[in-house]
Amino acid sequence: MKALVKSRAEPGLWLQDVPEPTIGINDLLIRVLRTGICGTDLHIYDWDAWAQRTVPVPLVIGHEFVGEVVEVGSNVNDFHPGDLVSGEGHLVCGRCRNCMAGRRHLCAHTQGVGVNRAGAFAEYIALPMTNVWRHHAGIDLDVAAIFDPFGNAVHTALTFPVLGEDVLVTGAGPIGVMAAMVVCHAGARHVVITDVNDYRLDLAHRVGVTRAVDIRDTTLAVVQRELGMTEGFDVGLEMSGNATALRDMLANMAHGGRIALLGLPTAEIAIDWTVVVFNMLTIKGIYGREMYETWYMMSSMLQSGLDISPVITHRFAFTEYEDAFAAARSGHAGKVILRWAE
Ligand code: NAD
Ligand code: ZN
Repeated sequence: MKALVKSRAEPGLWLQDVPEPTIGINDLLIRVLRTGICGTDLHIYDWDAWAQRTVPVPLVIGHEFVGEVVEVGSNVNDFHPGDLVSGEGHLVCGRCRNCMAGRRHLCAHTQGVGVNRAGAFAEYIALPMTNVWRHHAGIDLDVAAIFDPFGNAVHTALTFPVLGEDVLVTGAGPIGVMAAMVVCHAGARHVVITDVNDYRLDLAHRVGVTRAVDIRDTTLAVVQRELGMTEGFDVGLEMSGNATALRDMLANMAHGGRIALLGLPTAEIAIDWTVVVFNMLTIKGIYGREMYETWYMMSSMLQSGLDISPVITHRFAFTEYEDAFAAARSGHAGKVILRWAE
């Protein structure tokens, strides 16, 4: 089969013929239809320090996908050929304390699809049945392809109650924009999103946030005043990994405010901890998705009218992967989709 392979320990990604994956008794073989490109894939393409110490070579990469089940192992009885599915990108050990207690998203030993084991940028992928989510009929294939990052957005956005609250989202990348849409859908009052990129602020503006703020020329204090806010944001969703964004957020939270951190900083960040202490802020790190409550919420919110399709801005055939990666890297894109089959 054709696959995008990290076949050399250097920058780049190569379209190659590799053997089709084989399945064990608890696995599904899935024909990949669409995949999404994630920041992680760009890091692996670039072969940065993180990728060099994490990714074994050669490896089929990619973890955001939708596909059709074509074969099931002999121990699988609740999936069938023809089912439309996506894969949870984290494989858990099943044996650590958290896994045993049913808190699989807190597993101490996760393995990443397309990071530590063969991924989805291929015509076929094999996954354990416990890592597969079945979609409802009629779902848009491109939307189904991005359930993994949509899940990051939903997990973060629903970590703290947002009904009636004022929410600040820092970073209008695809995940920040989807998180903003989710908190709007979940009944927040004001949803303010910040970025330093015009294309992305435009995208955020179009999906209907209260304010999409270019933080280079407007302060959050001014935005708060314009919106008639007096005590700060109740909930913060950090989606940029940027130090200035985090410090700005801390300075604009209400006393008792709650912050969910998804953004991955590239280096240590110094913050004024007295703000955290005196303002009694709660800060929670978010990794991945809850298995499978986040997935349930994604499917049910799409059925209750949430439409995340505007965040998908580019579509390519898998053979055009170099153009697709360039688009994803440019900053002038939301989610970028690769098409593998109809
Ligand atoms: P992205 O890089 O596409 O988006 C980040 C955005 O932040 C960009 O649009 C950038 O312009 C903006 N930004 C930069 N400086 C800013 C500032 N000072 N103020 C406001 N915005 C600023 O990333 P994404 O794919 O949307 O993902 C969001 C973040 O979540 C990234 O940091 C990513 O690494 C991280 N992530 C974490 C997990 C997890 O499980 N914790 C999973 C996926 C992604
Ligand atoms: Zn575990």
